[in-house]
Amino acid sequence: MALRTLAVDFNSYFASCEMQERPELRGRPVGIVPVMAETTCCIAASREAKARGVKVGTGVAEARALCPDIVMVEQRPALYIGYHHRLLAEIEACIHVTNIKSIDEVECDLTATFAPREKALAVARQIKERVARQVGACLTSSIGIAPI
Ligand SMILES: [Mg+2]
Repeated sequence: MALRTLAVDFNSYFASCEMQERPELRGRPVGIVPVMAETTCCIAASREAKARGVKVGTGVAEARALCPDIVMVEQRPALYIGYHHRLLAEIEACIHVTNIKSIDEVECDLTATFAPREKALAVARQIKERVARQVGACLTSSIGIAPI
């Protein structure tokens, strides 16, 4: 079966950008909030926070109850946009990006490579390696390959 689409989705994107910028946050539960207030909710959560039940939309008070050591970080949209452009450039160096779905999600067209499975997997690995080396190891992603 021909593989036509490769989709990249960065994990816990805003939290991962903050962890890349601030090494002291790495390995810790982190919640990203729009403003520093107890009445708002998390707009992103690090993998460590997700493991403790904190999700996008979890209120700050509930997040602190679930995870007393959570670090709340106020969002920095300009930083996430800057990473978005750097990540796009690295992906584009591996395969043409055909569709930008959101700040942390893109689709690429595999048809130009006549993608057999091995070639598609090699491109996915190349993207992950390149991003880790050129942008930072905190920027992990999930990559899907599909015949549509
Ligand atoms: Mg994502």
